[in-house]
Amino acid sequence: MRRTLVTGGAGFLGSHLCTRLVEEGHHVICLDNFFTGHPENVAHLGPTSFDLVRHDIVEAYYAEVDEIYHLACPASPQHYQRNPVRTLKTAVLGTMNVLELAQQTGARILITSTSEIYGEPEIHPQREDYWGHANPIGKRSCYDEGKRCGEALAIAYAQQHGVDARIVRVFNTYGPRMHEEDGRVVSNFINQALREQPLTIYGNGSQTRSLCYQSDLIAGLISMMQLAADPGPINLGNPEEMSVLEIAELVLALTRSQSPLEYRALPSDDPSRRRPDITKARMTLGWEPKVPVTLGIRETIEYYRSRLPSVRGNGHAQRVRVAVDQGA
Ligand code: NAD
Ligand code: UDP
Repeated sequence: MRRTLVTGGAGFLGSHLCTRLVEEGHHVICLDNFFTGHPENVAHLGPTSFDLVRHDIVEAYYAEVDEIYHLACPASPQHYQRNPVRTLKTAVLGTMNVLELAQQTGARILITSTSEIYGEPEIHPQREDYWGHANPIGKRSCYDEGKRCGEALAIAYAQQHGVDARIVRVFNTYGPRMHEEDGRVVSNFINQALREQPLTIYGNGSQTRSLCYQSDLIAGLISMMQLAADPGPINLGNPEEMSVLEIAELVLALTRSQSPLEYRALPSDDPSRRRPDITKARMTLGWEPKVPVTLGIRETIEYYRSRLPSVRGNGHAQRVRVAVDQGA
């Protein structure tokens, strides 16, 4: 049985990845400090092939493992900007710690980088050979530069120590188990629409994102890990590009909500366009997203709708906020 470590495994993407790996016969060690994730997300996974370990990856960690998926890092701008020093420590020291572990155990490791490494892109759509245009000193730099450093670390450990380290650049991905209070566009809009609250449009809503459903992304991560040879950094995301206003209109139509739109200031350095070129993923992994955005958003609406009665005064939401405020 393969022993697989998933850091950030109690978060949104990590919990879906743990579930898929357990279904595929892995013994999964899920490591998380519950900064933005929660044990509830993996409560359905039984003890025979699943261990949940509370640990902050900023501190070294050791376990005998064959594979490592490194996802530990807050991904929502609202959360990663709240404690930028902690974000940098997680992105840099945390990534160094998992690469050390890969070196010690001989495990293959996959690092989840991000489309944010492209910054405000001058190339559209973004290809892997584009070096990016990120602000090193802006509000988002703790995340963008932390993730860029994570990539540099992966390359350094591969070159210097022979670690089999793979880099996936994840573009905006959504689905059930994104925390209600996460602050990202899909979770915000759906929860606002279901409560008949105004949908908060930052700026004029003309900025674009390309939304990938969680199951497609998870399939891509597993394919990348299974590939015999490292193909170099790879983009995973949905090339179907939408403006924020189009996302809002879709959510309103699918929820049949009467919520109005409320325009707010555009956060600084908010990228104006984001769309992956996935030619490399198609050619090397035979991967492309399968779930149409309408279907994925419907699934996500059903998830949040099923949680609605407990959303108000929800203990989980309050616990996460307390943890974030304390810089846990
Ligand atoms: P998430 O916030 O739901 O999950 C992150 C998980 O990491 C949480 O469970 C959190 O508690 C844990 N964590 C944070 N800091 C930690 C630390 N120091 N030690 C241990 N655990 C820690 O976010 P997500 O959307 O599931 O993102 C997962 C990964 O994918 C992140 O690395 C993120 O940068 C990357 N990513 C996600 C997206 C997306 O659209 N979802 C896009 C680009 C990149
Ligand atoms: N956004 C918005 N309203 C919200 C949340 C986000 O208009 O309530 C916008 C945000 O300004 C950005 C896009 O939606 O242009 C995606 O934001 P998100 O935080 O989901 O991800 P990221 O900016 O990291 O791609």
